[in-house]
This record gives sequence, C-alpha cells and structure tokens, in this order.
Amino acid sequence: MARRQEQESARSEVTEVAAGVLRMELPIRMPGLGHVNCYAILDASGAALVDPGLPGPGTWRALQDRLKQAGLAPRNIHTVIVTHSHPDHFGGAGRFAKEFGSKVVAHHSFGFGVLTPTAAPEVSVDDLAAGDSGAGVGSAPDAEESGAAEDQDRSALEQLRAATTGITPWGGARPRPPWRTKLKWRVMRWLGSSVIPTVSHPVEHGDVLELADREWFVVHTPGHTGDHFCLHDPETGAFLAGDHVLPSITPHISGISSSPDPLSSFFFSLDRVAEMAGVGRVLPAHGHPFDDLAARCHAIKRHHHERLDEVRAISRELGPATVTAFSQRLFKQRSWGAMAESETYAHLEHLRLARQAESHRDDSGRLVYVVG
Ligand SMILES: [Zn+2]
Ligand SMILES: [Zn+2]
Repeated sequence: MARRQEQESARSEVTEVAAGVLRMELPIRMPGLGHVNCYAILDASGAALVDPGLPGPGTWRALQDRLKQAGLAPRNIHTVIVTHSHPDHFGGAGRFAKEFGSKVVAHHSFGFGVLTPTAAPEVSVDDLAAGDSGAGVGSAPDAEESGAAEDQDRSALEQLRAATTGITPWGGARPRPPWRTKLKWRVMRWLGSSVIPTVSHPVEHGDVLELADREWFVVHTPGHTGDHFCLHDPETGAFLAGDHVLPSITPHISGISSSPDPLSSFFFSLDRVAEMAGVGRVLPAHGHPFDDLAARCHAIKRHHHERLDEVRAISRELGPATVTAFSQRLFKQRSWGAMAESETYAHLEHLRLARQAESHRDDSGRLVYVVG
C-alpha cells in the first residue's frame, strides 16, 4: 500500500493554507504518523500556535526554524492552542508558557488523553497495519530532522506512554509488576507530568476566540479524546480539525475514555461538524489540507459501521467471547495487543449500551460479550 499522506516526513517549508494561517510541519515518529501540523495564526501582535508538536529539543528546534521563516520569534507567540490532550499536540505548549508567558488555550476537560492507560493514542489499528506494508512507517526522516534530539523526543513520548500504563477494564487484574518496574513507572510518571501544560484559558463549545482579527468558534468534538475541539472561522471557512477528521486515516477511538461510549461521542461529533454550514478548507493535524469535510466524516462513519457489522458476525460464530477473542478475529496477528483490544472494546460497549449486546464477567474477571 502506498504511503499515506499522514505518514510523510515533515518538510521544512512553511505554507500559507488559509488567510493569515501558516502550516508548519513538525517531525514525529509515532506509529502510523510522520509529522504533525502546527498552525500559526497571525495577527498584528504576533501569532497564536495551534498544536506545537511533541515535547523535546528536536521538535523545538524544528519549530524555531519554521517560526524564523515566517519572521516570528518565540516571544511573538502570545497564545498556544491545544486541540486535545495528546503529546504530539501539547508538547511545546508548556515551554512557551514558561519561557515566553504565552496563554495556553485548551478544552476545560483537558487532560484525560494523557492519563489513558493504553499506549498508542493516535491512529486506528487498521491504519497502523496499512503503514507496515508501505514505505512510510520507520522510513528515514529528512536529514535535517534525524539524530539524537529526535530520539530524545521519542523517548519523552515513550515515557509518557509508560507513565500511563494501567489495568484494562475488560481484562481483569494485571499481574503485579516487580518492584524495579514499579520504580521505573514512578520516575516516568514524574517525567511525563513535567511536560503536560497548565491550561490558562479553558474553553468550551460555542466560545469565540479572536485570532487573526477574526472570530473563531470552538466546536467541541469528543471521540478521539473527550477533550478534543476544532476551531471554525465562518468568515473564510477555515476549519482547524485537529485529529477529529484526518484526510486519509481513521483516528484511534480508545475504549478507555472519559465517555462510557466514546464511539457514540465520535459519531455525534462527526455529525456535528458534517452538518456545519460555511466550512471550506479543512486544516488537519496530520496530512494535507482538504476540502470536503462532510464527505470525509461520512466515510469515517461508514468504516465504523462496517466494523460493528463484523463484530456482530464474529459473535454469531464464536458465541460468548472475551474482548481479546473478538479483537483477534477482527485484526491480523501482527496488530494484536492492548490497542486492538481497546478499539474492539469501544465497539462492543457501543453495542452493549445500544442494547444490542450483553456482557458479564467470567471467573477470572474478564468481560465476556454476546452480540445480537
Ligand atoms: Zn490525537
Ligand atoms: Zn495527532
């Protein structure tokens, strides 16, 4: 399979993608992703940055380079806007606040994404698997971006992930880790918490932000995380989509969420933005800008409805089965593990809460589902 646009390595050029809005690609090497888009929204006093990449010196250096190209210095960044609580989006926010006094804008429920117990938060398991067969994942990044600093960024991310490892709601008790592992987790939790920004300006659905001398509306879009929001500028049609709607991959919907039914939340949020009038250019956090927001929302919904149909068919075949059993039928062996189980759990709980499935715990505490 060809490389997805979200897997392309970060390019250093800065491009104007909407009036007064610059796209700056920052390097990341997370599974299924090659870059994150940081957007600079310009005004007379400097700029607001949306999603300033991973924590760590490699991203910071790349961002300084992009800002310089745009004629900006870090002290000109008066505001940092974080679309949701994933580390490739909030990474640089705390540093801007600390060193330059930037405001940090995020949803008032910001935070759950960093506490999610399962590891990889971004891309659906299907799209990770697609990446494995293509040239994208793990391919060499641009020479400019490679090297030790990026490795430090990656390890910061891994520390964050490790810091959040917990017990799955579907799997019963986890074996007690040895003391050495527990000590490592404690250190990592401390390291992880040191890069999570403090939100100085919490926002909620319907709030208006004045950016580039225009009014941008906060559109709360729970699903990928409970605290995710998009920004819409009705004057030009620009729509900052974060990870809610990506051009060619499906965002990961974790079963472990602040919502009991994250898939329902996601469907609600897809409908919410698909029905919006006055949306033109969509500016996603990964991949290229695109135009038909409603069509992309419908395609993503279709994918999940097909997945729900597969879950029903597997249940007919297996009878009562654990989340692990369902996930091992849904996904190829190379994708098995916590992330596949988390997506499977989101689909099973969606069906259970719609009264199309029932569950109980077996003797070892594992949830067992029957669908239909
Ligand atoms: Zn995300
Ligand atoms: Zn992302």
